[in-house]
Amino acid sequence: MRHYDIILAGGGAAGLSLAYHLSQSALRETSILIIDREVKRHNDHTWCSWLHGPEPFDEIAYRTWDQLAFIGPDLERGFEKIFDLAPYRYRMVRGFDFYRFTRETLCAAPAVDFLRGKVERVVDAPDHAEVHVNAQTYTADWVFDSRYDPANYRPLTRRYHYLIQHFLGWEIETPLPAFDPHVPRMFDFRTPQDGAMRFIYVLPYSPRRALVEYTLFSPSLLPQAEYEAALRGYLADVLGLTDYRIVDEEQDLIPMTEHPSARRAGRRVMNIGTRGGRVKASTGYAFHRIQQDSAAIVASLRRHGHPFDVPTPPRRYRLFDAILLEVLAARGDLGAPLFTALFQNNPIQRIFRFLDEEDGLGGNLQLLASLPPGPFIAAWLRLARRR
Ligand SMILES: Cc1cc2nc3c(=O)[nH]c(=O)nc-3n(C[C@H](O)[C@H](O)[C@H](O)COP(=O)(O)OP(=O)(O)OC[C@H]3O[C@@H](n4cnc5c(N)ncnc54)[C@H](O)[C@@H]3O)c2cc1C
Repeated sequence: MRHYDIILAGGGAAGLSLAYHLSQSALRETSILIIDREVKRHNDHTWCSWLHGPEPFDEIAYRTWDQLAFIGPDLERGFEKIFDLAPYRYRMVRGFDFYRFTRETLCAAPAVDFLRGKVERVVDAPDHAEVHVNAQTYTADWVFDSRYDPANYRPLTRRYHYLIQHFLGWEIETPLPAFDPHVPRMFDFRTPQDGAMRFIYVLPYSPRRALVEYTLFSPSLLPQAEYEAALRGYLADVLGLTDYRIVDEEQDLIPMTEHPSARRAGRRVMNIGTRGGRVKASTGYAFHRIQQDSAAIVASLRRHGHPFDVPTPPRRYRLFDAILLEVLAARGDLGAPLFTALFQNNPIQRIFRFLDEEDGLGGNLQLLASLPPGPFIAAWLRLARRR
């Protein structure tokens, strides 16, 4: 039975980020075992974040943009704007580069081991925790658990919402220039809504290459053919593209729920990543929140000798998430007009501060006042009645 200071059950974004943050801190001598059921070498994610100031993983950014476009549902009467992001930037890190870079960094650290295997059980004890994998038992002072299986996850939906952000993205190459490589499209609502919030997300890598993603916020998945038809329709009808080659594909789902996730899963076990509630319920973004969480865990370990002293945002942000999810669950058709009002009436920097849960009450009120109140008040009343 081998003992480590720390075991990471799951070595994806959260597990590897925590190990990386430890390796860059005064705790770099910590012995760490990183267990994942996969060998992470493929490009299974493209992680984008709006950021300001230097951040971990800047050196492996695949693309960084200074502008973002928002395009509302109806171009004739609708709203379309290219936002300058300064002091923010929109940064993309590819899974492929993240896994390679963290593995190289961690292999050079004094006491980091990798193990491939499916973690079967994590057992908490007063002064250590056990991890059962590959018919072996490993022990550690602290176990950080990021195992997560969306297929088996169901929150208490009578009290909490559970929508999913589901998407199919095609990285396409065109024979002629078709994209402005300086301007990603964060939301392009020019796709039929059919009662749910649906939009196209475009990350342009060059004039002839882009990731074009059909995304929905809704309760359930679509038949595969519908994602493909929507992408083909957008490329042909909106971008006028029929001649292109699909060079890569990204398809997955992200949970959108305000269900509180237990951070502390025992005396010696802490949940991190999606399992630890790091996905922002109303957007599905998590990568930057995972970096903030990793830094906070390392700071807590240094200060107190335990990892649990991590900040929690003001409670009102969970209420805002719950209200938006209630609106989208009950009236998915309102998603496009509400997001249009949000981007039409606010500087993008205020929206970012709100979504990062960093703005004060004054900024929150300004943002809320820019939105049509009816759907939100109705959603709030429904929520209050249900809870
Ligand atoms: C396709 C996709 C794109 C995304 N894009 C963005 C984005 O642009 N920006 C953003 O902020 N967020 C994004 N997200 C959301 C979020 O950042 C990611 O889901 C992020 O990967 C969550 O980190 P995690 O460590 O919790 O999960 P993961 O990165 O999935 O890591 C969990 C790891 O646990 C392993 N595992 C699971 N069960 C076991 C087991 N029993 N034993 C051993 N190993 C196990 C898995 O193999 C996996 O490697 C995206 C999510 C997806 C799915």
